[in-house]
Amino acid sequence: AKADGRNALRCFAPEMNETARERLELEGWLRRALELGEFELHYQPQVTRSGTPVAVEALVRWRHPSLGLVPPAKFIPAAEESGLIVAIGEWVLAEACRQAAAWYRLGQPIRVAVNVSALQFSRPDFFQTVEQALSGAGLDPSLLEVELTESLVMHDPGESARQMEQLRALGVRVAVDDFGTGYSSLSYLHRLPIDVLKIDRSFVAELEAPRGTQALVQAIVALARALDLMVVAEGVETDAQLAFLNELGCDLVQGYLFARPMPTREVSAFLTMHGTS
Ligand code: C2E
Ligand code: CA
Ligand code: CA
Ligand code: CA
Repeated sequence: AKADGRNALRCFAPEMNETARERLELEGWLRRALELGEFELHYQPQVTRSGTPVAVEALVRWRHPSLGLVPPAKFIPAAEESGLIVAIGEWVLAEACRQAAAWYRLGQPIRVAVNVSALQFSRPDFFQTVEQALSGAGLDPSLLEVELTESLVMHDPGESARQMEQLRALGVRVAVDDFGTGYSSLSYLHRLPIDVLKIDRSFVAELEAPRGTQALVQAIVALARALDLMVVAEGVETDAQLAFLNELGCDLVQGYLFARPMPTREVSAFLTMHGTS
């Protein structure tokens, strides 16, 4: 196991300039991790102006036996390249739905937002996977939100819209993640069947610095208002950022200021303390 850990460590070198062989090794490790049940979900609350949590974002981690908790940035790129992200993503969907259903039954109804990668979304059976995750868990579709990145959506807006429409017909909410970082054609945005815009963390981080960012975020919120979309700001770390976002009329906020992504048990405690709506 010691040698294994060393190999894996080399794979997770921060430079990520691994050789093809190392990349293959990492893929093998990820496949095994899935079989061994080493992935786990942490959840980060999204709260209203008054601090009430209404949703949690599910964020995957790899509980490696010797390396500890490995963050997604270290393995999602390899998972995407190898196609393993489809199987990992299926597990994430099922597990998130199962957990949301468990919270619901415990009297803590909370929506769960799940990140979906481009490869997963482009699969013809993606919609079925979502249906199966919901019915397998016995979760009301309105308690599930899928987060699709802006670049994923804009890659093929027509096809994305068709799939989003299917999800919404089922009652699932659709969020556009990392909004503002890609190049959305604004002419498409109003035709897309979406419920939520998530303002990227990079803009929130710059809110206190150059004036331009404030204007940009203000414009995004105004756009969301006009299109009747909900706005969520991620990466909120300071009171000053929160004050700006509240002033601009942002609906929900998510960030270390309120809570870090937490394991299930800590989320339950957070929900007990802060209530659910
Ligand atoms: P993302 O979807 O943009 O998720 C938000 C990231 O920001 C998370 O990092 C979260 O922990 C971090 N974050 C939240 N609040 C703050 C804050 O106040 N300050 C700072 N500095 N960071 C904050 P995490 O969990 O490491 O996830 C990174 C990325 O990995 C995610 O970015 C998402 O793109 C991807 N990811 C995570 N889970 C999944 C998954 O289940 N499936 C797929 N396809 N991708 C995932
Ligand atoms: Ca996300
Ligand atoms: Ca995001
Ligand atoms: Ca982001």
